[in-house]
Amino acid sequence: MQQLRGRFAPSPSGRMHLGNLFSGLLAWLSVRSAGGAMVLRMEDLDPDRCREEYARQVADDLRWLGLDWDEGYQAGGPHGPYSQSERTKLYAGAFRRLKEMGRVYPCFCTRAERLAASAPHRSDGQIIYSGRCKHLTEQEKQELSETRCPAWRLAVDDQEIFFRDKLQGDYRENLQTDCGDFIIRRSDGVYAYQLAVVYDDGAMEINQVVRGRDLLDSTPRQIWLHTLLGFPPPEFCHVPLLLAPDGRRLSKRERDLDMGELRQRFAPEELTGLLAFWAGQLDRPEPVTPAELAKCFDWGKVPAEDITVHPEEL
Ligand code: GLU
Repeated sequence: MQQLRGRFAPSPSGRMHLGNLFSGLLAWLSVRSAGGAMVLRMEDLDPDRCREEYARQVADDLRWLGLDWDEGYQAGGPHGPYSQSERTKLYAGAFRRLKEMGRVYPCFCTRAERLAASAPHRSDGQIIYSGRCKHLTEQEKQELSETRCPAWRLAVDDQEIFFRDKLQGDYRENLQTDCGDFIIRRSDGVYAYQLAVVYDDGAMEINQVVRGRDLLDSTPRQIWLHTLLGFPPPEFCHVPLLLAPDGRRLSKRERDLDMGELRQRFAPEELTGLLAFWAGQLDRPEPVTPAELAKCFDWGKVPAEDITVHPEEL
């Protein structure tokens, strides 16, 4: 049987928070309980938001909890480099291949123009792109590029993508009506998350992706991109998000429950116990190590719905 290869792919744009750690722990437990290989990839694509010191901090926080990885950031391995900021040439190759397929076109629209087109919205709240720039003539492109740097979009087909998420169940989406042509390279030249994540999961031979439920609606696009680039799509498990009592997602921007705070308040086993309780692996929060949990980890007990974290639990 094929060895399970999973990954955790944090964006080092700040200190991790409880929600990131929850996804990371589940990804790790899934891999370790199956005797698989764990990869840590730094998704530091965005030079404005990501910093090397945050990446080091992420690795340190993961180790503090008791998680390890076989390949990746600070560990090396056959599929490196493992920081996206060092993989630009590889994304350029994938971008070129998509261009050769005749699927990539420059988009000169400003945000205001996209909004003015009053297009319908995707499930993630983004507008579905109208396709306005798809039919520009060579001359129009020439003229527009004199004053604007274009973003680059991938033209999708009128095609339904279906997949079965390990936790969230069946999911289907029509690429044209539910998603629209999407950006794979930004106007500042940075390759977009959608392209980089698919290229990396494919090239790193990842066959199971465990991540937060907020990325569920990116998955049809990604599955389609996997096939275009000639990779077998991985299995997907979208885990619940941790919510504050007011329904907000815990976020690193607000610094609530970030790892700096948590490390002061908890011992690693205590925090693992809490996460494991939310993940349905323990009947009550009690100290435990990730390694102990891996011995009896059961996906069947992990809830699919988001979890509200009450301050008194912490
Ligand atoms: N880098 C993304 C994040 O930190 C995760 C991407 C993924 O797991 O596909 O939210």
